[in-house]
Amino acid sequence: MTKVAVIGCGVVGAMIAYELSLIPGLSVTVLDRQLPAQASTGAALGVLMGAISQKVKGRSWQLRQASMQRYETLVAELGHCVPYNRQGIVMLCFDESELLRWQNLIEIRQTQGWPIELWDVPKLRSRCPQIQHPDLVAAIYSPCDRQIDPTALTLALVEAAKQRGVRFEFDRPVLSIRSAENHAQQIVTASGNLSVNWVVVAAGLGSTELTRSLDAPLDIRPVLGQALKVQLPDAIGDAAFQPVITGDDVHLVPLGQHQYWIGATVELPDEAGVVAEASPDRLERVFEDAIAFCPALTEAKILQTWSGLRPRPHNQPAPVIGLLSGYDNVLLATGHYRNGVLLAPVTAAAVCEAIAAPAQQTA
Ligand SMILES: Cc1cc2nc3c(=O)[nH]c(=O)nc-3n(C[C@H](O)[C@H](O)[C@H](O)COP(=O)(O)OP(=O)(O)OC[C@H]3O[C@@H](n4cnc5c(N)ncnc54)[C@H](O)[C@@H]3O)c2cc1C
Repeated sequence: MTKVAVIGCGVVGAMIAYELSLIPGLSVTVLDRQLPAQASTGAALGVLMGAISQKVKGRSWQLRQASMQRYETLVAELGHCVPYNRQGIVMLCFDESELLRWQNLIEIRQTQGWPIELWDVPKLRSRCPQIQHPDLVAAIYSPCDRQIDPTALTLALVEAAKQRGVRFEFDRPVLSIRSAENHAQQIVTASGNLSVNWVVVAAGLGSTELTRSLDAPLDIRPVLGQALKVQLPDAIGDAAFQPVITGDDVHLVPLGQHQYWIGATVELPDEAGVVAEASPDRLERVFEDAIAFCPALTEAKILQTWSGLRPRPHNQPAPVIGLLSGYDNVLLATGHYRNGVLLAPVTAAAVCEAIAAPAQQTA
């Protein structure tokens, strides 16, 4: 058996564990210093910005497209137990000069098989009557994009992987990775070490320390995000059509029973990588921005506020997927920044591809 240790059980680590559990010949252990979905994943809104993103070619689009395709089969495989909004994403447009860019995207997506639509204001009013703003010029509707509950997804992946024989060790921080001749050999923890053939670093912000222990530190920095959950007294808009609505980078995410998530702030760290404390003022501004395009939210009662830290690679594009430089058995699956929920499936596929071929030879 090939021994694989996955460090981190956010959405990325859990997705990797689940996909690895489908490959014969592997013995997979996932270690996390907390319970699953407690770090960035626990704060995420799960908006899957695929076709509606401005990425049209190259790695960035390929990653998105592959993930969107996998989500459609994955949710069914997990038994439809994870809240998954299939009603698409409506993006509001307040600036006439952006319309040409959107027209171009619509043409490209048509050829790529991911149709999106440009709605004029009357059409937007008819489909989403809750949206009102004096500066609205149009909206872009992407029916193939989705939203998923990141915590429910992570927990469902853990359960499914467990049933297929993956071991999970929570509350077990990894202190370091021990190696010899640029080959990882052991995972070091306070309660004993684990011999490994492969290590997958899916530790989000914890990845920097872990890679430092291999003398190849990967600089991942925190970007603060704050969000809130609200309750409305009555339904807003058309109860049968409740897509995610995005205006000025603020998402309004329907949860059912007249509840919504609203967020999130994007608060970059300073030069040294130090992030500011979560401040109620910034969150208040996000709420006001949402009220500006959806005035019915003035009636909303705030049920919960929270913040989380997105893992952003410093001086390189997100995410970081592949072998750690200089090592032949340490795979990085980290630094997903704003799109870790979206890109978890394609990340897991890349990890499986790297591990599967050699594992099948030695099984
Ligand atoms: C407010 C907010 C909103 C967001 N909204 C979206 C969205 O709408 N769509 C989207 O796609 N993405 C969104 N994101 C981004 C997304 O949350 C992240 O990209 C994603 O969760 C990263 O997942 P991960 O598993 O890599 O990291 P994490 O969820 O941070 O998990 C890493 C895990 O590693 C563990 N760990 C770290 N170090 C160690 C160690 N030494 N030993 C053992 N365990 C360790 C941690 O305990 C943690 O459980 C949002 C993020 C925030 C903060």
